[in-house]
Amino acid sequence: MKTQIFIDGAYVAPTSGASFDAVDPSNNTVFHQVPRGDATDIDKAVKAARRAFDEGPWPRMSGTERAACLRKMGDLIAARTDALARVEVMDNGKPLPEAVWDIEDTAGVFHFYADLAEGLDGHEQKVPLGMEGFTSKAVKEPIGVAGAIIPWNFPLLMASWKVAPALAAGCCMVLKPSELTSVTALELGEIANEAGLPPGVLNIVTGFGPEAGQPLTEHPLVDKLAFTGSVPTGSRIMATAARDIKAVSLELGGKSPLVVFADTPVEEAVEWILFGIFWNQGEVCSATSRVLIEDSAYEAVMERLVTEARKIKIGHGLDEGVLLGPLVSKSQHDKVLDWIETGKREARLVSGGGIPTGLEDGCYVEPTIFADVPEDATIWTEEIFGPVVCVKPFKTEEEAIRLANDTRFGLGAAVMSKDLERAERVARAFRAGIVWINCSQPTFTEAPWGGYKQSGFGRELGEWGLNNYLETKQITTWDAHRPWGWYIKE
Ligand code: NAD
Repeated sequence: MKTQIFIDGAYVAPTSGASFDAVDPSNNTVFHQVPRGDATDIDKAVKAARRAFDEGPWPRMSGTERAACLRKMGDLIAARTDALARVEVMDNGKPLPEAVWDIEDTAGVFHFYADLAEGLDGHEQKVPLGMEGFTSKAVKEPIGVAGAIIPWNFPLLMASWKVAPALAAGCCMVLKPSELTSVTALELGEIANEAGLPPGVLNIVTGFGPEAGQPLTEHPLVDKLAFTGSVPTGSRIMATAARDIKAVSLELGGKSPLVVFADTPVEEAVEWILFGIFWNQGEVCSATSRVLIEDSAYEAVMERLVTEARKIKIGHGLDEGVLLGPLVSKSQHDKVLDWIETGKREARLVSGGGIPTGLEDGCYVEPTIFADVPEDATIWTEEIFGPVVCVKPFKTEEEAIRLANDTRFGLGAAVMSKDLERAERVARAFRAGIVWINCSQPTFTEAPWGGYKQSGFGRELGEWGLNNYLETKQITTWDAHRPWGWYIKE
C-alpha cells in the first residue's frame, strides 16, 4: 500500500508531509495512512499533466500505440485482482466476491478503451457542404488536461471509468480519489509506470474535497472536469467550472424506481428487488430504492421479500457467504441510521431497521424495508445511499409512471412485466438515463451511463465515455483553385 502521491511518473511525499487515516469499517480500526495532498500538490500535478499534454508524446501517439499501453494496464490490474480486491474489502467494506467483480470490471474497462483508442486512428468524418468549391471534414482531438474527482462506492472501478477513456482519447489527467477509499487508486501509478505510460500523463493526488478537490476544479490549466458524487458537490463544481468555461460532466445521485407488474413471477421480482437495493450495501447511485408493486401482487411480493431479506448473511466482507458488508464509514452509518429513524415516523417498517446483533463494532445496518411509503415522505424523495428500500402499491400503469417520474433525479429506472410491449412502453416513459427491463443494476462497459435531471449530464462508458474527452474540430478547405471572388472579381 502506497504512502505517497503520484506526480509526473514518481511517488512523492505531499508538500505538507501530512497524512490521514484509512479506516476499516468492519471494526472502525485504522489500517493505513494516506498522504494528504493539498492545493500545492494539485498545482504540481496539474502542471505535470499540462507539460505532458503540451510537449509530451502521449497526445501525439497513434491510438494504436496508446492502446498497447492501456491494454497492459488492464493486464496488470487483472494480474493483481485478488490483492486489490482484498484492499477494497478493507477500505470500503464490500463482500469479497463483489470486490473481485469490481476489479475484473476495472481491467475490462481498460481493455475496452484500448480497442476504442485504436478506432480513433484515421478517424475523420467527411462533412457534405452546400457550396461548391469547399470540402470539409470533422476530426476528433483530445480535450487536454482533465481533472477527475470520484466517490467511494466502487473505488478503483470509478477511477477506471474516467482514467481509461481520458487516456484513450490522448488526454492527460489528475485523479482525486475519495478520502474514504484512496488506497487502491494510488496503486494505479505503479501500474501506469509498469505499462510504460509516459510521466505526467496520469497523476494521482489523494486528499479531502475542500483541500484537494476544490483546487483541482479551480485550476486554470485544467480543460475538463469529470465528477461523480453528490448533487451539492456537483453543483458547486459546475459553478466553479463556469468561471473559466471548463467542460464538465457530472454523474450524481439518484432515487431510482423499480416498477413491478403483477404478471411478474414473485421469485423473479423479489430477486431483482433485493439485488437492486442490497447489492454493495445499497451504496449504489442507481440503486432502485423506490419499489412500486401492482396492488394485486403487493402482499405476495412483500411477504417473500421480507422472508428473503432476513436470510441475507451480514458480516465481514472476507467471510464466506456474506452478501452484505458494513457501510463505508462511521459517518455514513450514522446518516443511514438517522434516515431509518425518520422512516419509522413516516412509514411502516416491515423488516430490519437496526444494527445487526453481534456486529455493533462495525458500520453494519440490517437490510431494511419500509412499506406503504407516502409520496411526500422524505425517505421516498431523498437519496439514503444505504440498504434501505421504500415500497408502495400502485393501481394503473399511468399511476406507476407518474410516481416513478415524480422525482428530481433521473439516473436509473426499472420495470418488470411479462408483457414486453408494456415493459417497453413504460421504459420509454421513464425520465431516466439508464433503464432496465426485467432486471435492475447490471452494468455493461459498452453501454452509455448517466442521468437526466439532477442526476447529472454527460455519459460515461461505451463510445459516449470516450467522447467526454474529445474535442471535435472541423477542417474546411477551399479547393476550387481560383480566387474566392468577393473583393477581387475576375
Ligand atoms: P461527495 O460529493 O461527498 O464526494 C465525491 C468526491 O468529491 C470526493 O472525492 C470528495 O473528496 C470530492 N469533493 C467534496 N467536496 C468537494 C469540493 N468542494 N470540490 C471538489 N471536490 C470535492 O460524494 P460521496 O459521498 O463521495 O459519494 C456519494 C454520492 O455519489 C451519492 O450521492 C451517489 O449517488 C453519487 N454517486 C453517483 C454515481 C453515478 O454514476 N451517477 C456513482 C457513484 C456515486
